Amino acid sequence: MTSTFTATVLGSPRIGPRRELKKAVESYWAGRLDASALDAVARDLRTQSWTDLRDAGIDSVPVNVFSYYDQMLDTAAMLGALPERVAGEPTALDRYFAAARGTATITPLEMTKWFDTNYHYLVPEITASTRFTLDPSKVLGEVAEAQALGIAPRPVLIGPVTFLLLSKATDFESSLLSRVGELLPLYAALLGLLVDAGVEWVQIDEPGLVADRTESEIATATAGEVYRALSALEHRPAILLASYFGDLGAALPTLARTGVEGLAIDLVAGDPETLAGIPELAGKHLVAGIVDGRNIWRNGLAESLTTLETLRESVGSVAVSTSCSLLHVPYSLESETGFDDALRSWLAFGSEKVREVTTLATGLRSGREAVAAELAQAAAAQATRAADPRLHDQAIRKRLATLRASDDGRSPAAERREVQAAVLPLPQLPTTTIGSYPQTTAIRVARAALRKGEIDEAEYVRRMRGEVADVIALQERLGLDVLVHGEPERNDMVQYFAEQLDGFFATSNGWVQSYGTRCVRPPILFGDVRRPQPMTVEWTSYAQSLTAKPVKGMLTGPVTILAWSFVRDDQPLSESADQVALAIRDETVDLEAAGAQVIQVDEPALRELLPLRAADQPAYLDWSVGAFRLATSGVADATAVHTHLCYSEFGEVIGAIAGLDADVTSIEAARSRMEILDDLNSVGFDLGVGPGVYDIHSPRVPSVEEIADSLRAALRAVPVERLWVNPDCGLKTRGRAEVEASLRNLVAATELVRAEL
Ligand code: GLN
Ligand code: ZN
Repeated sequence: MTSTFTATVLGSPRIGPRRELKKAVESYWAGRLDASALDAVARDLRTQSWTDLRDAGIDSVPVNVFSYYDQMLDTAAMLGALPERVAGEPTALDRYFAAARGTATITPLEMTKWFDTNYHYLVPEITASTRFTLDPSKVLGEVAEAQALGIAPRPVLIGPVTFLLLSKATDFESSLLSRVGELLPLYAALLGLLVDAGVEWVQIDEPGLVADRTESEIATATAGEVYRALSALEHRPAILLASYFGDLGAALPTLARTGVEGLAIDLVAGDPETLAGIPELAGKHLVAGIVDGRNIWRNGLAESLTTLETLRESVGSVAVSTSCSLLHVPYSLESETGFDDALRSWLAFGSEKVREVTTLATGLRSGREAVAAELAQAAAAQATRAADPRLHDQAIRKRLATLRASDDGRSPAAERREVQAAVLPLPQLPTTTIGSYPQTTAIRVARAALRKGEIDEAEYVRRMRGEVADVIALQERLGLDVLVHGEPERNDMVQYFAEQLDGFFATSNGWVQSYGTRCVRPPILFGDVRRPQPMTVEWTSYAQSLTAKPVKGMLTGPVTILAWSFVRDDQPLSESADQVALAIRDETVDLEAAGAQVIQVDEPALRELLPLRAADQPAYLDWSVGAFRLATSGVADATAVHTHLCYSEFGEVIGAIAGLDADVTSIEAARSRMEILDDLNSVGFDLGVGPGVYDIHSPRVPSVEEIADSLRAALRAVPVERLWVNPDCGLKTRGRAEVEASLRNLVAATELVRAEL
């Protein structure tokens, strides 16, 4: 009989408390660190992470959650499914990184969002000729490493169903799930190797089953077969089947009927009530994900304990856990210095969450008295949070209620188009860019110097103005029609606004991995949102003072600001979205008053927050579109509202794009070869549109002919009066020279196509 455990987490952050892994990997890429030195950094980080968990009282430690880049890529490597084109690279590590980020001659795998989080995974490519083979070296290596430290490891694997659901079939039609039979023997062999290595429990992650997909019934049936087969194996560790980010729905009873020993369930995103009606759960070890792995609020503890006690009555064997991997939250509150005491007491980052898990496990095992002090502290923190005046600003709430009750002020789009054309005549096929220009070394140096106090605010502003002037001059030289100021003053398109709005706190070290070595520091939305003063007007006005061409005001929309922040959990997201929208609305009105004729409000994350289950999607689209309109309907008809959307697959949100009612929508299209325009046509979209004519994710300079061809293709789908010309996205990550060359070709291609009209 396997022993059960009482306290665990589903996974840990891996980038390092001081982003040590980021620095090491980037040094390796730059040739400044060799593979063995990189390995040493990685090993230290793993050791630290595992021993911290053990010392905190976690009695089942997850391993194989470390990654040099991404866990889906690790799984592809483990299953022999890296793309053919990396085969020529000299070492396994080089093949791995080539698949992740490409080389001069190799295109990397595509990257996309991991469920509804802001983490991006690499999408494995499976071809008809892919022959899966098992390479267990990484997972066995981590198992041995942990054992050498005296830690009993629980290796974590991505399950075969989720692996296939999230991969991409590149050259064959049938569902990838039909290939699960090829993976089963590999997983079976791996389970055998793990049990031989002395592993008691293995965690197999199947978050793919929480989403509705067209294939959801097939996925459930397939998962049922897979886990019946794997659990029927004699030579294997106990299996903990983990799901997160939502309810398993119909998949839960199916999985509970298989012979797996444990199920990890997300009780934060999912509803604990759904567990009650499933008698098959009675024999299982239930790993209750009650501590939120994705948001940063302190757990209520007392209430959680009640839920856990109830579960134990119906299920029997319960362990306490986080709802998902702690990959999605920063390491620890300890390195934060800027929070006031109240705010600090409301929060829990990674290591604080680990303590919550062990506290709850102790309470469950030994009774509430054993953790009375912790329960009291958590309750006291909750009480101060509920009473904090910053959370309820009546003036803001009243203004919102009044605005919601009134009609929004803009006339129908066709009328607006006429007014705008009269006040701001533009050539056919107007050219523009999405907002940011390359973030040069000078910009980064100035920002670092300001942070360290080496230069003052005035000097920083002086340098950034210089950057703005350069970018304006460049755009005039290139002959673009609608200019931008280039966003040099923005560290990040969300953080920049959050730092200026009341109701948000910025962290000093709250890094969260976004993809590969890229980390973000999401701000924390904790209170009612107020804009104490204009945020962008001076920059836009300064840029406008340098040119006779129109300069676009540039703002981030409410949905994106929320998507890339940690949000409050004490009111519906729709409520928070409207408050942010109100602040953005005030900014658009101020920009207009300062003379801006075009204002762009970016919503690249509109698709990202879309709920995983279809049933929840209409309500989301309703409030998110509503918030955008609230943010953009304060300006006159003569002011053109633009928006920008990216991340290729729009799917369910296509209809909502029309609902945004922006005068012009610039949208990522280059990689999908303008197909987005047909999708927009199919939902009756008849507003201005700027389908990206070249992919900015690569340093390649597109030729004039290539861009002209894209434009001709676009003109087959959209009448010329509605078509704009722009790149796919902002140019922040690109080099100055390639940007200049690409935009020169963009303008030339536009002139070529204009001549054909
Ligand atoms: N205006 C932003 C930029 O140009 C938009 C970025 C984005 O879409 N992610 O950088
Ligand atoms: Zn974009």
